[in-house]
Amino acid sequence: MSVGPTWEERWHPLREEWVIVAAHRQDRPWSGELKEHPPETLPEYAPDCYLCPGNRRVSGDVNPDYHQTFVFDNDMPSVGPNAPRDLSPPKGFYRNQPARGVARVVCYSPKHNLTLAELEVDEIEHLLHVWQEQYMELGNRPEIAHVLIFENKGEVVGVSNPHPHCQIYATNFVFKFIETEAHASQRHLAETGRPLFQDILAAEMQDGRRIISENDSSIAFVPYFARYAYEVYVAPKATRPSLKALSETEVRDFAQVLKQVLVKFDNLWQMPFPYVMPLHQAPTDGGEYDGFHFHIEFHPPLRKPNLMKYLAGPEIGGGNFLSDTSPELKAAELRAQPVVHYRESSASGD
Ligand SMILES: [Zn+2]
Ligand SMILES: [Zn+2]
Repeated sequence: MSVGPTWEERWHPLREEWVIVAAHRQDRPWSGELKEHPPETLPEYAPDCYLCPGNRRVSGDVNPDYHQTFVFDNDMPSVGPNAPRDLSPPKGFYRNQPARGVARVVCYSPKHNLTLAELEVDEIEHLLHVWQEQYMELGNRPEIAHVLIFENKGEVVGVSNPHPHCQIYATNFVFKFIETEAHASQRHLAETGRPLFQDILAAEMQDGRRIISENDSSIAFVPYFARYAYEVYVAPKATRPSLKALSETEVRDFAQVLKQVLVKFDNLWQMPFPYVMPLHQAPTDGGEYDGFHFHIEFHPPLRKPNLMKYLAGPEIGGGNFLSDTSPELKAAELRAQPVVHYRESSASGD
């Protein structure tokens, strides 16, 4: 019996979710040893970075001399058009399916040493438009059920390259959290006539203590039910199922609030703040998602500068979070942070 590198999706019958098995990726490139902090003085261009302009990637392709953002198909995709189609059926009642889809990388900037927090508001606005386009292009494909856009930032979340970038997994299934949120939103809308997220926003505004940033059409807050110490949601105030439904003004407002959150994160400990940042947008599988409310979630793994929130018994073993911190106090810390990035204010001599 042959045991080649496995590349498929396997159904988890107890959790009722797909597991992507992409064993061909184990040799993917990894730049940099694990260390506590990335060096503060990264070069603007790194000759050995596979995301910098003009450099050659593992596929042999050469990056263009790009000036803003740059999108390309991941050279080591988790899901892809070349994933094996003719899978042998598993033994017993187990189920599998081809790991079809599209995996992409989006570089935020040609500059190796920037982070999303340091982009100007209009550069973030441009990035939001790129995400809109990707969601529309990939979501329109009949085989794509969902477009997950996410950024992993920091070595503590396993990022092998500091060059500012995010990833896109456009998959033939809907990721579990999105599925759960979609079901909850649908049920709430049917029962109350109100989008679930509108009730969340109303409760947050009524309390007010956990709001981090706000303007006419966008808001950021540490949710009442936060699982991580510095968990923050950024959302438009109106219920829009995806980025694609935002008006130009809403995109601009969203970019402003997003920028403020990112700057406050970095200012907290005067260091690049690590996080996992998914965009939660409605599935593109043709279902009804009127009550789905687009938002960005930040899941920062650190509780203190060198202290990880380790996931253990309750979280990994049982699936529910044990939070050791108060969302109101953590929100107060973030609210107190200035909205000018510490690197910018030290550069200008303040
Ligand atoms: Zn680079
Ligand atoms: Zn969400």
